[in-house]
Amino acid sequence: MVAGGLSGGDSYQGYRTRLVETLQSRGIRDLGVLRAVSLVPRHRFVPESVRHRAYEDAALPIGGGQTISQPWVQARYIEVLGLTGREKVLEVGTGSGYQTALLAMVADRVFSVERVPELTREAQKIMLELGIGNVTILGGDGTLGWRPYAPYDAVLVAAASPEVPKPLLEQLAVGGRLVIPIGDREKQALHLVTRRDADNYETTSLGDVRFVPLIGEHGFRR
Ligand code: SAM
Repeated sequence: MVAGGLSGGDSYQGYRTRLVETLQSRGIRDLGVLRAVSLVPRHRFVPESVRHRAYEDAALPIGGGQTISQPWVQARYIEVLGLTGREKVLEVGTGSGYQTALLAMVADRVFSVERVPELTREAQKIMLELGIGNVTILGGDGTLGWRPYAPYDAVLVAAASPEVPKPLLEQLAVGGRLVIPIGDREKQALHLVTRRDADNYETTSLGDVRFVPLIGEHGFRR
């Protein structure tokens, strides 16, 4: 696990500690995830206009009609992947890069794909500024996965799709886990898919969620 240049202790530390307490009270137990939340400066990933709300357990706008998801949802998402620090992870939908930074602290390597060029550039910039070195961010259609680095021990899709994109299933390692919101544009259920062997995938539904659409060749068309 590479923690990047994050050490906490800035003037927002008290807010982060309170956010960790909120997440614990809402059932998040994974100590690695809670530690990541206590160190990653969420205020750096949101626009100036909503910076004062950065440590609320709430989704916030990040521009271009996109959102940074609610911290509880992001923490829960990562928790169900059961990461130990040794995994290679594919994330689809970098957005602001906040969840990417959390993943970077609980996995070995993170590859993240974002379709909106401005968000891709901003996220790449902030990873450099924060000294997070185990993340690579690519601009493009994440429904195609990122084949050169496959297979992945875990795949996290941060946007809603009508079905699990086939390339992502193919690029999941045997024994690997994938989380994705599946449904229509209005309402989805979070699905956890575990690849048991080459042709055997087991799917569990983890409850209702609401995400922006995954737009691409194997998601919503537009
Ligand atoms: N987890 C992110 C964060 O911490 O800010 C928020 C992700 S936001 C809910 C979903 C993101 O998925 C948006 O930035 C959107 O542009 C992106 N997206 C939608 N379709 C995509 C695709 N086919 N490939 C890559 N990214 C996509």
